[in-house]
Amino acid sequence: MPQETTTKRPLRPATAMVHGGTTRSGFGETSEALFLTQGFVYDSAEAAEARFKGEEPGFIYSRYANPTTRMFEERMMALEGAGDARATASGMAAVATALQCQVQAGDHILASRALFGSCRYVIETVLGRAGVASTFIDGRDLDAWRSNIRPNTRACFLESPTNPTLEVIDIAAVAEIAHSVGATLVVDNVFATPMFQKPLALGADVVVYSATKHIDGQGRCLGGIVLSSQEWIAENLHDFFRHTGPSLSPFNAWVLLKGLETLPLRVAQQTASAARIAECLAASPAVSRVYYPGREDHPDAAVIKKQMTGGSSLIAFELKGGKASAFRFSDALEIVKISNNLGDAKSLITHPATTTHKNLKPEVRADLGIGDGLLRLSVGLEDVQDLLEDVEAALAAA
Ligand SMILES: *Cc1c(COP(=O)(O)O)cnc(C)c1O
Repeated sequence: MPQETTTKRPLRPATAMVHGGTTRSGFGETSEALFLTQGFVYDSAEAAEARFKGEEPGFIYSRYANPTTRMFEERMMALEGAGDARATASGMAAVATALQCQVQAGDHILASRALFGSCRYVIETVLGRAGVASTFIDGRDLDAWRSNIRPNTRACFLESPTNPTLEVIDIAAVAEIAHSVGATLVVDNVFATPMFQKPLALGADVVVYSATKHIDGQGRCLGGIVLSSQEWIAENLHDFFRHTGPSLSPFNAWVLLKGLETLPLRVAQQTASAARIAECLAASPAVSRVYYPGREDHPDAAVIKKQMTGGSSLIAFELKGGKASAFRFSDALEIVKISNNLGDAKSLITHPATTTHKNLKPEVRADLGIGDGLLRLSVGLEDVQDLLEDVEAALAAA
């Protein structure tokens, strides 16, 4: 397939998200083609042999690679500045694959403690069973990274901003600490989105996404991706990926390609609306605390200024009246829906203590700042005036 003509100048993100990675079939279709095929045929036995030997380029089997999936990978590589990538069936497949492919029994993983619950399960339980030790620390505390890293630490792992309290971790500083013992830094960049934070440019070795969130952004399908340098993927992930099969379906890759076309617009709009809603929440006497990466009063404001180019479409806030108040607020919302998802066109509210973080011990929850009155709001694409009116009415009910 002919590759889309590339320009001499690097494409700006909005342009790359419309054209990046596009290849066209002989029909010259405008929109990316959807190749729903498991396999590929060869002109001759000799051609099949050459393809398997890697002497001739081309696709072999969709568990390895598929033209539609590859377009999604290449578009993400253009956005992220990555040398190579592998798209996965979900965000968790991306996280599990990125970590599992590089560790073996006797290795150690050092991770920030404020993690998506399943990420912690993969590190502590799944990799723990395979003989990989792990330590969880406060990711904002650079001394904790320094004092807990070991000669056998193979990978460091963090999310930033974190779920749900939107703490921001200094990626460049953690990368330097990881590299001091030859460990890789893997960053789950879901909450920042590829628009506002570039972990590879900050020194991280691997970036993972749940494409289920802002990249689809319209609540349709699951997906994920692991991005890194060409060398890292070749050495660590290439064979592991082919043989374990966490591959993304071409159909979902096509949906996600369409999602990427509007990602810059959606994230910009959702973030602008979130900033206004954060102001409204901060001004309310019912709210004791607002955590929003775009605000000057964010505890990690200095790090945010250094490594992020935008705020967030997510807001966390604590209601003074605890759980009862948080439930009254959620139930009073009419436009904002109650859901544990995020990054969607529809605004969504979550009560972490009773849903996404209910399995944590109360003392761990308290340590992470997840109080009974804490709510996480994912701001969507509705008219901000409607959202403000919905939030104000709910505050009055809280
Ligand atoms: C949702 C999410 C994941 C998991 O992604 P799925 O697509 O649901 O598997 C991992 N990390 C973070 C930070 C997430 O928000």
